[in-house]
Amino acid sequence: MSTTGKINVQTENIFPIIKKFLYSDNEIFLRELVSNAVDATQKLKALARMGEATGDLGDLKIEIEVDKTSKTIAIKDKGLGMTKEEIEKYITQIAFSGAEEFVNKYKDKVDKNVVIGHFGLGFYSAFMVAKKVEIFSLSFKEGSKGVHWECDGSPDYQIEEISNKTERGTNIILHIADDCEEYLEKSKIEGLLKKYCKFLPVEIKFGTKKDWVPSGEKDDKGEEKDKEVEVDNIINNPNPAWTRKPADLKDEDYKSFYHELYPMQFEEPLFNIHLNVDYPFNLTGILYFPKLSNKLEMPKDRIQLYSNQVFVTDNVENIVPDFLTLLRGVIDSPDIPLNVSRSYLQADGNVKKIAAHITKKVADKLEELFKKDRAEFEKKWDDIKIFVQYGMISDEKFYEKAIKFVLVKTTGGKYFTFEEFENHVKAVQTDKDKKLIYLYATNTLEQHPYIDAAVSRGYEVLLMDTMLDPHFINHLESKLKDISFVRVDADTIDKLIKKEDNSVSKLTEEQQNALRPVIESAVSKEQFMVAFENLSEKDAPMLITRPEFMRRMKDMNQMGGGGAMSFYGNMPEMYNLVVNTNHPLISRILEESDEETKKNLTKQATDLALLSQGLLKGEGLTNFIKRSVELI
Ligand code: ADP
Ligand code: MG
Repeated sequence: MSTTGKINVQTENIFPIIKKFLYSDNEIFLRELVSNAVDATQKLKALARMGEATGDLGDLKIEIEVDKTSKTIAIKDKGLGMTKEEIEKYITQIAFSGAEEFVNKYKDKVDKNVVIGHFGLGFYSAFMVAKKVEIFSLSFKEGSKGVHWECDGSPDYQIEEISNKTERGTNIILHIADDCEEYLEKSKIEGLLKKYCKFLPVEIKFGTKKDWVPSGEKDDKGEEKDKEVEVDNIINNPNPAWTRKPADLKDEDYKSFYHELYPMQFEEPLFNIHLNVDYPFNLTGILYFPKLSNKLEMPKDRIQLYSNQVFVTDNVENIVPDFLTLLRGVIDSPDIPLNVSRSYLQADGNVKKIAAHITKKVADKLEELFKKDRAEFEKKWDDIKIFVQYGMISDEKFYEKAIKFVLVKTTGGKYFTFEEFENHVKAVQTDKDKKLIYLYATNTLEQHPYIDAAVSRGYEVLLMDTMLDPHFINHLESKLKDISFVRVDADTIDKLIKKEDNSVSKLTEEQQNALRPVIESAVSKEQFMVAFENLSEKDAPMLITRPEFMRRMKDMNQMGGGGAMSFYGNMPEMYNLVVNTNHPLISRILEESDEETKKNLTKQATDLALLSQGLLKGEGLTNFIKRSVELI
């Protein structure tokens, strides 16, 4: 025989658990209580619109007060208030949300996003910092009596009707616990309000501040004097740009909102994306592409995540796709859960969908810019390149969209899309195996001779000079068929893009064998492999190249690739020393009978080759200069 039962939860036991573990950070008590005050105000406004609350609503400002002497913090609203029955129902039943109930009751008449709460847990976060909590409330309902509720954090509470609460709304009084006295500092509370409540939709007052206004009086010079006055210190902007319609906003508005978000940021953003979605989830926001001063710097001005204008976090790692963490701005979605911990946030299905959606929006916006104003897009390209490449490497969907507008820049400063570039170089840069070779340089100064040689051959050389470019190149090679990237100095000009070989050598094999030891003695044998090639007379007598494969292995190893990478990474640096068999100087070295002159000529030629790769340093460089002077 089987029976069913109900697991019995004892409040005595669950209470400390909620207090300790529900919220990762005790400072969010303020966010929760102010959100409740905002909810109470918004509900009252909604009821007034529906005709359920009548009369003048008056000033609806929320006020926060800190009193160091009585060790209390007060959160006061002029919202809909609560009757005795409502306090017993909403406050004393943990996990029963009055917000949720309100939304369900009026679901056809009010937008569900006017209220913030939905879990029925926020209020209890007060006990993370308070040893006693009091509520004074008067409901908007006609004939209501004031109520006083008080609880010291145990499951027992007192509640009574009172006569001295005559103003509609709710005051929450927190008696701050001894170990939380930091919250009695005005600066601390103001900081928290600015962090969490900066864009809440109801005005929040925290004391007063001094301000200067025109006095109406004139000074000696006849100019109007300003006078100092006390004004309300309003913490928030109740109508932040992202909650407004894009059509109502000018470029200036977006820029000034950027500075409102990041007061310490003086650089203007490159452009912005206004997000506005209501299906299949609700999402608004503005993302900015910043001008990054230093491409390696980790962004400290980060995207801020809001839920119904309540700040949730600016640590969006794993919530927003990685490559977008370089962007700035705000994302607001009531579907982002306000409560509990980060790991919960990351695992949330809505959060994942939001991330995918943002990726798509960003790609669409970039494509639109590209199509609408190519010149402007090119002008901004160097700054946005890192986002686009990062996105293409890390996100398949983004790659598919971005491959249409991602640009490459040549060493000559021209921009191409991949499709354009392919058509541009196809005729000259296809090798004998039908492979399209994209030549690139990482440094136009250091690789100048090689770039120069390639360009005079009629090749285009791409500039790939950022940290991300090596990864981007690898990624593209894995995606695009029949292309490969080769750095300009990876081989001699003839071999960079291998065509049919019909060159002839001026040197016989015997002559080459005779020359080899002479040249080998001029350089370190462990570092250089001597090879003979039939280049043109106009090319350099000797050249140093570094095979693409070797260099990439080394590069990857430096960036921390393991396994086979580290095997190659541990190999000594290897270069090819290519001897141009057709250069007159090489013939001269071969024919020279004076041993000393032969040695000097060889040394001079190898040093020149080293020099053009930036490999001649220290004593070698000093000797080269001395020898050159003597030769002159
Ligand atoms: P939630 O906000 O998720 O519903 P809370 O624990 O924060 O949960 O609050 C529980 C309920 O208590 C609210 O839904 C609301 O009905 C009521 N409440 C809390 N604070 C106030 C307030 N300042 N004014 C009116 N009602 C309030
Ligand atoms: Mg709440």
